[in-house]
Amino acid sequence: MPSLTPSLGHIRNWIFDLDNTLYRADVEFFSQIDRKMTNFISRYLALQPSEARMVQKEYLAEYGTSLSGLMAVHGMDPAEFLDYVHDVDLQMLKPDPELRSLIQSLPGRKFIFTNGSKGHARNVASHLNLFDLFDGSFGIEDGDYVPKPKRSPYIKFCDIFDIDPETAIFFEDGLRNLEVPKHMGMMTVLVTSEADWSHEPEITRPAGHSTQASYVDFMTNDLTDWLSKHS
Ligand SMILES: [Mg+2]
Repeated sequence: MPSLTPSLGHIRNWIFDLDNTLYRADVEFFSQIDRKMTNFISRYLALQPSEARMVQKEYLAEYGTSLSGLMAVHGMDPAEFLDYVHDVDLQMLKPDPELRSLIQSLPGRKFIFTNGSKGHARNVASHLNLFDLFDGSFGIEDGDYVPKPKRSPYIKFCDIFDIDPETAIFFEDGLRNLEVPKHMGMMTVLVTSEADWSHEPEITRPAGHSTQASYVDFMTNDLTDWLSKHS
């Protein structure tokens, strides 16, 4: 961590990942999606669940998302997969009125940038009573199914919304997804959790609070608390 807190006075574009960032990872919401991916892959590739799970995590590590691996290796049509894995129970996600008021007060535009579908971003953010605060959302379809951490979706995102990276800050729970934004000139906030919902390979595992990387400007395990102190 840098010893001096970098200033945020120049920030005009606030970009948030969705899953495990706009809600806390310890509510175990995303584990539903994670399990549905395993079920889908098991059926699609006719594999035992334990084998499907390995394929899911290998593709996540290698291609950025499990979906991208299924498309690249098996030529899968993404639509059915996305509909299936995002059809989950939202009830365990509770709106946080303080987070809403903090995001609302941020100076400039606000965006959601997710490796999930645009419909998923709308469903989840609406359920959290946050969706109307955002000036735009960017889903996996918008990046032609090329996911974070690859460079091209970040470039496309900035193009579509006319964002100068030097005026932007990116909030994200996936450590590797902050490397490109930092190199583009954005500030970065890693939202950590000790909740191990994923049993991921090391490269994609949710970041714990002991994580260190040169492309992380700030770390917090509580987005609401961080925004209340920095904005
Ligand atoms: Mg996430």
